[in-house]
Amino acid sequence: MIEPKDTRKDLILFSDSPDDLAWDIEVDVLVIGAGGCGLVAALAAAQNGVSVFVLEKEKQAGGNTSLSQAMVPAARTKAQIAACIEDSVELMTEDILKKNDYQGDPALTRHVAEQAAGLVDWLNDQIGIKLELVTEFIYPGHSSYRIHANRSRKGAHLINDLINAAKRFENIDMAYNAPVKRLVAAKQDHAVLGAEVEIEGIGRNLARAKKVILALNGFGANREMLKKYISEMAEAYYFGHEGNTGEGILWGEALGAQLECMGAYQAHGSVAHPHGTLLTWAVISLGGYQVNLEGKRFVDEYHGYSEHALDVLKQKGGVAIEVFDQRIYDTVIEYEDFQQCLEMGAIKKFERLEDLTASFSLPAEQMIRTHEAFQKAVLGETRDPLGREKFGEPLHPPYYGAKVTGALFHTQGGLKINHRAQVLRADALPIPNLYAGGGTAAGFSGKTGPKGYLSANGLLAALVLGKIAGEDAARSGLESG
Ligand SMILES: Cc1cc2nc3c(=O)[nH]c(=O)nc-3n(C[C@H](O)[C@H](O)[C@H](O)COP(=O)(O)OP(=O)(O)OC[C@H]3O[C@@H](n4cnc5c(N)ncnc54)[C@H](O)[C@@H]3O)c2cc1C
Repeated sequence: MIEPKDTRKDLILFSDSPDDLAWDIEVDVLVIGAGGCGLVAALAAAQNGVSVFVLEKEKQAGGNTSLSQAMVPAARTKAQIAACIEDSVELMTEDILKKNDYQGDPALTRHVAEQAAGLVDWLNDQIGIKLELVTEFIYPGHSSYRIHANRSRKGAHLINDLINAAKRFENIDMAYNAPVKRLVAAKQDHAVLGAEVEIEGIGRNLARAKKVILALNGFGANREMLKKYISEMAEAYYFGHEGNTGEGILWGEALGAQLECMGAYQAHGSVAHPHGTLLTWAVISLGGYQVNLEGKRFVDEYHGYSEHALDVLKQKGGVAIEVFDQRIYDTVIEYEDFQQCLEMGAIKKFERLEDLTASFSLPAEQMIRTHEAFQKAVLGETRDPLGREKFGEPLHPPYYGAKVTGALFHTQGGLKINHRAQVLRADALPIPNLYAGGGTAAGFSGKTGPKGYLSANGLLAALVLGKIAGEDAARSGLESG
């Protein structure tokens, strides 16, 4: 018999015999959380012929996935091959590991990189969700054009499409305003038996399931957990979804699961301030730059938007001014996030650099020196003293400027899983019947801090692990009868 690490009754309802419990609902696969991971898991399981019940705490699906730009990395997809882009699973694996300083599990990273193309092609061909290859820019840290996204580059549309796909499956049921309160597990071996859920208008229900998939994301909205694991961001602006309060990780821990990479997270250094809207990172990738309130650039902006958050937060007032031009504006104008920034008045247009300088109260002479030095580096006339090597083209008037800050997007630490997305105990054996994906599972972004996050690692973990978990749960659920 395994001693429960944490027998707190608010996390797990331990049962001597499942048949003694008064179950209200019985289902093959129970999915907790209706973000990208949960919805993909539900579709993958349902396609394999089992009954699926998705429980979502909020009044609608989406989570962080709906806030995202729907950018999903994958090597050797049909779209990439059709566009004659050179890439490989090995190169993608290497990019992920290099970014996290080789702290990640190489075999698991490779497995996920290998499965990514299958996920994108499956969404396109079988689920009817169109993800195209993004070729307008290369995301920082990726060696190739391998990001796939929907046309609007908006996660909310991806979620709508996933929901519409789920509606076509008679064997998928969903409940909103249905927060899961505890898992139900066998006292003897901690095998997960189901969950206790509070469904609005109905009350507490016990849902019995052969397999349970935790797709609740991480703990970005849980200040106590942030203080414990990521104290440097505990007081920072949290840009993610308020539903991500970490209970999936706490349930797993209470069942003896290993926690991994709990200090790792994704942040972003380009959130319009005080508007709280995302100025897409493409503005930097396409050749924009940032200055602090002294009119000075402070770092190679291209190094990665996640670690860049801490660089911005270190500047006076925790803010920077992002500078770009009409060419960049015209390229990203279709992005909904960018449009939101425009609607909120976060982006200002100036005919001359002097006007931009005055509007943001920057020291004029310094700003002009900074701008001229940047332009020379873009033209290759000088080396950028901050080491930036990727610039796009020189900037031309009219200019645009936006005040931005750094924010926490989501956490990357969580439950250790294996190749099948099964949650592992400290002795590396799976907790029976329990799967995790997305932000509830330990990610691929190193052990601690924002630096190990390769752009789009978030949806990689959410969607690819969601598919792996859904398929495995369905198949092994059917096998167990
Ligand atoms: C602004 C922004 C932009 C981003 N852009 C990208 C991008 O372009 N590419 C990329 O790879 N990553 C991006 N990310 C990260 C990415 O969005 C996340 O890593 C990913 O969406 C996580 O998916 P998930 O399914 O694990 O969690 P979520 O999508 O957050 O879904 C979790 C769901 O679980 C629900 N839930 C929580 N607790 C319970 C409970 N007790 N009971 C029932 N339901 C519960 C939540 O309400 C939520 O709906 C971005 C993040 C942000 C904030």
